[in-house]
Amino acid sequence: MAKEGLTPSQREALEAQFSRKLKEQLPLGRYTSSRIGGPADYLIAVRSRDDLVDAVRFLWREEIRFRVVGGGTNILVADAGVRGVVLLNQARRFTFEKEAEGSWLLWAESGASMGTIARRSVERNLTGLEWAAAIPGSVGGAVVNNAGAMGGNTAGSLEVAEILQPNKDYEVWKPAQFSYAYRSSVLKSNPGMAVVLRAAYRLQEADSDAVQQKLAEAVEHRQRTQPAGASWGSTFKNPPGDFAGRLIEAAGLKGFKVGGVEVSTLHANFFLSQEGATASDAAQLIRVVQEKVKQHSGVDLELEVEIFGDWPQDPENDSAEDR
Ligand SMILES: Cc1cc2nc3c(=O)[nH]c(=O)nc-3n(C[C@H](O)[C@H](O)[C@H](O)COP(=O)(O)OP(=O)(O)OC[C@H]3O[C@@H](n4cnc5c(N)ncnc54)[C@H](O)[C@@H]3O)c2cc1C
Repeated sequence: MAKEGLTPSQREALEAQFSRKLKEQLPLGRYTSSRIGGPADYLIAVRSRDDLVDAVRFLWREEIRFRVVGGGTNILVADAGVRGVVLLNQARRFTFEKEAEGSWLLWAESGASMGTIARRSVERNLTGLEWAAAIPGSVGGAVVNNAGAMGGNTAGSLEVAEILQPNKDYEVWKPAQFSYAYRSSVLKSNPGMAVVLRAAYRLQEADSDAVQQKLAEAVEHRQRTQPAGASWGSTFKNPPGDFAGRLIEAAGLKGFKVGGVEVSTLHANFFLSQEGATASDAAQLIRVVQEKVKQHSGVDLELEVEIFGDWPQDPENDSAEDR
C-alpha cells in the first residue's frame, strides 16, 4: 500500500461505507492529552463494540491501514499526522454482573474511561480497580499498555478481554495470553495486530470506607506528584531499580525546554506541552534528555510513550543537529 495513503478505490469504498461519519484531515491534537498531533487522513468515531467490530472488519477486508486511538494519552502523534484511518474509540458502555456471593464482573467496552469505571466500581463498594481511578485513557489502551499505578495494574486486575484479529472470530483472552510485563504486552510490541473490543475485571464487595479511602489515596497521590497541564504522562519507562524522573532530574534537566515542550519541574519524567508545541519539539526534547541522562548516569532510557503516525524518520534518532 502506498505510504502516501489510500488508493482511489479504497477512498471510494470508505466514503460509501461511512459517508458522513468520515472526517478528513482532522488534526489529532484535539484527541490527544498532549494536544500535539497532525491530521489523520481519515477519522471515524465508533460508538459501540459492534460498530468497532464492523469498522475494523471492513478496513481489514479493504486492506486500508488504520490505527485505533482511545484516550490518546500515551501517544506522540507526528506533525505530519497519520496516513490512512484513525478509529476514534468512543464505545464506552459498561455493566456490572454479579457472579457469586460478593463477587462481580465489570464488563467494559474498550472505549470506556478507566477513571470512570474505577469510580463507578467504588460507588458500588466494589474493590479491585481503585488503582485505576487517576489513570487517564481508555480500557483498550490500558489492556494494550498494561497500565498500572499504586501497586495495581491491568495484568493483575483483568479477568478476560475480547480480542479481534484479521480473518478470525473474536477471541476471549486471559491475562496470560497478553505476555504482560511492565507497561508492555504482545499487543504493544505488535502495534495494529489486534483490536481490543471489551474487557472484564473481577471485583469484590468490600467495606465502603476502605474502597473510598483507596480511591482518594490514588487521586491525592496523582495530584501531589504529577503536574497538571498537557502531557502524555510518563515519557520513559522506569529502568530496573531506578526512576526515570530521578535520573532526568539528576542530569539537571528539570525545566529544560525545546520549543513548546518542557521537562516538568514537579516530575521530570513528565514533559508538558504549551500551546503551539509540535511533535518535532517533543521528539527533539526526548532525544536530548536521553543523551544527557546517558552521559550523566550511563542509563539508556526506554520510551513509554508510543511514537505514532507518519514520522519523516525514526524520531528517536533525530538529533538537534539534524533539524
Ligand atoms: C497525566 C497522565 C498520567 C498517566 N499516568 C499513568 C499511570 O499512572 N500509569 C500508566 O500505566 N499510564 C499512565 N499514563 C499513560 C496512559 O494513560 C495509559 O498508557 C493509558 O492506558 C493509555 O490509554 P489510551 O486509551 O489513552 O491509549 P491511546 O494513547 O489512545 O493508545 C495507546 C496505544 O494503544 C492502542 N489502542 C488503544 N485502544 C485500543 C484498542 N481498543 N484496541 C487495540 N489497540 C488500542 C493504540 O493504537 C496505541 O497503540 C498517563 C498519561 C497521562 C496523560
